[in-house]
Amino acid sequence: MSTSNIPYKIYLSENEIPKAWYNLRADMKNKPAPLLNPGTGQPLTAEEMSGIFCEELVAQELDNDTAFIEIPEDIRSFYKMYRPSPLVRAYCLEEKLGTPAKIYYKFEGNNTSGSHKLNSAVAQAYYAKKQGLKGVTTETGAGQWGTALSMACSYFGLDCRVYMVKCSYEQKPFRREVMRTYGAQVTPSPSDTTEVGRKILAEHPGTTGSLGCAISEAVEVAVSNPGYRYVLGSVLNQVLLHQSVIGLETKTALDKYGIKPDMIIGCAGGGSNLGGLIAPFMGEKLRGEADYQIIAVEPASCPSFTRGVFAYDFCDTGMICPLAKMYTLGSGFIPSPSHAGGLRFHGMSTVLSQLYHDGLMEARAVEQTAVFEAAEQFARVEGILPAPESSHAIRVAIDEALKCKETGEAKTIVFGLTGTGYFDLYAYQQYNDGTMTDYIPTDEDLARGIAALPKVPGVE
Ligand SMILES: *Cc1c(COP(=O)(O)O)cnc(C)c1O
Repeated sequence: MSTSNIPYKIYLSENEIPKAWYNLRADMKNKPAPLLNPGTGQPLTAEEMSGIFCEELVAQELDNDTAFIEIPEDIRSFYKMYRPSPLVRAYCLEEKLGTPAKIYYKFEGNNTSGSHKLNSAVAQAYYAKKQGLKGVTTETGAGQWGTALSMACSYFGLDCRVYMVKCSYEQKPFRREVMRTYGAQVTPSPSDTTEVGRKILAEHPGTTGSLGCAISEAVEVAVSNPGYRYVLGSVLNQVLLHQSVIGLETKTALDKYGIKPDMIIGCAGGGSNLGGLIAPFMGEKLRGEADYQIIAVEPASCPSFTRGVFAYDFCDTGMICPLAKMYTLGSGFIPSPSHAGGLRFHGMSTVLSQLYHDGLMEARAVEQTAVFEAAEQFARVEGILPAPESSHAIRVAIDEALKCKETGEAKTIVFGLTGTGYFDLYAYQQYNDGTMTDYIPTDEDLARGIAALPKVPGVE
């Protein structure tokens, strides 16, 4: 079908798995704002953080200067089981769309957890084990992060306790069973097993939960059990650092064929896959070596970038976590139970928030049914059943490819296909039955969340 010399899949060899993660912060002139202690309004110290996070991860969290951080050999060995991931030229989609655009996607769904989250889970479990901890606690939305972490914990012999957002727990019983198969203990959140869970349940009876609630519960359990720490699957600087393997491999693969993308697109929940995918490209942009159009895609039901504010806010609903300066809808904002569970977070990575604030990237919000239309179109020609989260990126990649069809421009588009949708068939069922709805919060809904932003001592 193709007359190009570029293969359908650009595979790399095992040796081409990066030996170091790339820390984009090292090249940022305007560094992301530090996390603050909500009590004092002062930047969190390494000592304060080490009660919640593992020591080496604290060091990575605070390191704004080291551009390359070596990947320990044990982590690289684990990566070799499922990496390098393929970069695929979407010839079939291009032909179906009749577009002159050249479309590539980096496919991260080729492991049992079904998403890119394993890239950071294995790193976080490794450092917890190295520190001699007994176990870790976490939250999970759609379940991909919990699954990835339970796989990593069983590999390194750590106990794993997962608080799973209640609506996902109920919609995706099989995700839960995968986690249990890997030995994790899974609790629907909010639950009555924690103080903060009981408080949220009393204030919002019948709530279907949110990532923010589940984070509060997981943190409470970590800090009240000796030998446990909390780990987070997105948002944090350390997670973006680990996810840079996605972008580094993508760049290596493109460079082999001398391909320079015009546009890089990714879905954005907490920002980790997008932050990882764009890292080396944004690095070039920051150093003035190249320019790329970079687009974050978020759900219209949870529009942190496009309708949120850039301010210090809590990362969790229970308001026990540190404050992060980010694009946020307010930690009290509980998004409608959309099917892209992994994108239902009120805030955004501080790194991406700063880059967006500085005009270095763009953002678009898309509606659920339009996302599933794109997912279906993609699945039918490219063979992969995409996760609803990933399909946000597909939607915008298709929109951009169709614009090229009108203008006749042969742009090169790269997008992140973060995972597979085998556990999201309830959502596909609603789409197929025509019962899927598009809930978009009103300005009043958003104003309520934003009005409740914390007042930070000494900070506007
Ligand atoms: C979690 C998840 C996302 C969103 O998380 P980010 O941290 O923004 O990357 C996207 N796609 C899939 C498949 C996920 O599991």
